[in-house]
Amino acid sequence: MEKDTDTNVKIGLFGGTFNPVHLGHLRAAEEIREKFNLSKVIFIPVRIPPHKKHLITPSDIRFKMINMAIAGNSFFEISKIELQRQGSSYSFETIEFFNNFFQNKTDLYFIMGQDAFMEIHLWKKYPHFFSACHFIVMSRPGLTVIEHKNLIPPDIAMDFTYDSIEKCFVHKSGRCVYFCRITFLEISSTEIRKNLKEGKSAKYLLPEPVEQYIKEHNLY
Ligand code: ATP
Ligand code: MG
Repeated sequence: MEKDTDTNVKIGLFGGTFNPVHLGHLRAAEEIREKFNLSKVIFIPVRIPPHKKHLITPSDIRFKMINMAIAGNSFFEISKIELQRQGSSYSFETIEFFNNFFQNKTDLYFIMGQDAFMEIHLWKKYPHFFSACHFIVMSRPGLTVIEHKNLIPPDIAMDFTYDSIEKCFVHKSGRCVYFCRITFLEISSTEIRKNLKEGKSAKYLLPEPVEQYIKEHNLY
């Protein structure tokens, strides 16, 4: 990974199990990159998600599939950081790693879906995140500002004020939480795994090379 040590470089971090990565993830990352003018989006597969209990495909296989999926996009990168860590992997360590790696000269934007954000209070040291990086939460259409504010965990909600020009919630640290509408493709890894398990097709839900790879290796 290259070090972007210039100031004002904006980098997106997109974490997930990616079991497997699909077109919903890719399209979302692409739209967010464009909207926020990010210089890149780094996909970060997690090794052992602390609050996901279902059987997880080995990390090297999920890693390989992401690599195939992002091959045609020069703005997309992948990081092994969470896969290399011993024991459980925690996102706050990842943010810390990237802040150090980029020498705090880069603005980090943690990208996640609304579903994932609604579980943020379960994350270890979660209040710490809001002063360590910005958040971009990909939200469903039609939600009001109040409804968005209600998505912020209640015990830290008083630390935020709404900026109606920037259209974001500004944390007392100066970092922001943006709720951003994207074209949400109704695709989930769960649905893909289910289809495959039942012998059904997963075509057009994920990139062709990934679909081929899954078939060849009889995953799921
Ligand atoms: P699973 O069904 O196993 O939970 P998933 O499809 O939700 O898988 P994850 O790896 O859990 O994929 O998600 C990684 C991130 O991508 C999360 O922040 C999640 O909110 C987001 N995400 C998942 N599906 C989509 C989608 N269709 N469009 C945009 N973002 C998505
Ligand atoms: Mg999910």
